[in-house]
Amino acid sequence: MDEMKEKLFYQQKNGYDVIGPEERLALEDYCRRYMAWLDASRTEREAVTEAVKLAEKAGFKPLDPARAGAIRPGEKVYLDNRGKSLLLAVGGKRPMNEGFVVEAAHVDSPRLDLKQSPLFEDTELAYLRTHYYGGIKKYQWAAIPLELHGVVALKDGSTVEVVIGREPGDPQFVVTDLLPHLAADQMQKTMAKGIEGEKLCILAGSVPYAGEGTDRVKLAVMSLLNDRYGITEADFISAELEAVPAFDVRELGLDRSMIGAYGQDDRVCAFAELAAIMEADAPERTAVCILADKEEIGSVGVSGMRSQAFEWFIGKLCGDGCSVQESFSNSFCVSADVTAALDPMYPEVSEKQNAARLNYGVGFCKFTGSRGKSGASDASAELVAKLRRLCDEAGVVWQMCELGKVDQGGGGTVAGFMADRDIDTIDAGVPVLSMHAPFETTSKFDCYMTYKCMKAVYDKG
Ligand code: MN
Ligand code: MN
Repeated sequence: MDEMKEKLFYQQKNGYDVIGPEERLALEDYCRRYMAWLDASRTEREAVTEAVKLAEKAGFKPLDPARAGAIRPGEKVYLDNRGKSLLLAVGGKRPMNEGFVVEAAHVDSPRLDLKQSPLFEDTELAYLRTHYYGGIKKYQWAAIPLELHGVVALKDGSTVEVVIGREPGDPQFVVTDLLPHLAADQMQKTMAKGIEGEKLCILAGSVPYAGEGTDRVKLAVMSLLNDRYGITEADFISAELEAVPAFDVRELGLDRSMIGAYGQDDRVCAFAELAAIMEADAPERTAVCILADKEEIGSVGVSGMRSQAFEWFIGKLCGDGCSVQESFSNSFCVSADVTAALDPMYPEVSEKQNAARLNYGVGFCKFTGSRGKSGASDASAELVAKLRRLCDEAGVVWQMCELGKVDQGGGGTVAGFMADRDIDTIDAGVPVLSMHAPFETTSKFDCYMTYKCMKAVYDKG
């Protein structure tokens, strides 16, 4: 009977019962590289900067906007889109009109953005007002250490880079919360209302500027910023400053089998793609890797996946000889984004038979969306079969999954925007616990298998 079950049932195994000792070493090596990259990539801009460094070492050259002719086999180019998103390509043996293989992840993550006029003083304490970015549970962002990263663009055209809190010994920041002793009213509120958006103000200083008058603490803080960065209060207007959790990337668990870090959605898949394309030397079809921005707020803007920057880039790879639209219609896209892992502490939101589990490998999602798959791309059966075949042939451990129970909620990815272009698209990525929290958890095994999946797709997709 067991033989019949083996033959006929869809049975999954824990990944650690499948792989051998050699692969465990490769897994640890890959995760070390991922963790180092992630530690240095706290914002979308930093992720792009760090990715460009790696790509250049691997032989990628900036795309010449004046270039003529299609990408040549083995040629490695990249386009840094305004420092916030990155497109890379390795020329394939087959011409672009036969389509390319694209993997699209995003490098923006939920965070607290400073408002355009953020600084104020209340009761002789200075604060920075924020407007959160992406889907967050606001109560998770109080009483944790924060760092400030970003840029201030000055009127003279120059840009000042700001990083406060990353270096050992740097000061950090916090959003305060009420003590339990005085939280009787707050504790009666729902978790959505316990800490409201306008209360997510970052404590920025407490010492008054010497002398008499009002707003002396605000003045002292502004004076410190002016000393360090040469900026004035009006310069916040043209700044993008992001408060992000100050946690280091760490191994988790006594067995060190998991990774805890901020921003794994979706830099974990971004790194998997990046590592895979850096190893693609002469693929059959041109390999394209996208590290997109703005996914968390709907893939909008010039650096988001809806932007025509993608068409422009593909047009350059095509040269004059083929149409971008024809190329799209023959292409294959893996939308590489994280999915929800089954959390045994909250099994009620998942339907076990179709939920992703830690250590069961890269998760394929045929569809995302919510309330009857609304907003999903919904990959075709044929496309799912193709990914199954590719991964099985390459020894990738994978699992089929769905984000949560029917009508429990849902989510989206860039998949729909790729499919809108007439590109066959499927979602695949790393299962995550505490997704969108300041400290997200993944399993090393799944991170590694996602990389192997991305590699298999570039090799044979
Ligand atoms: Mn994501
Ligand atoms: Mn997300």
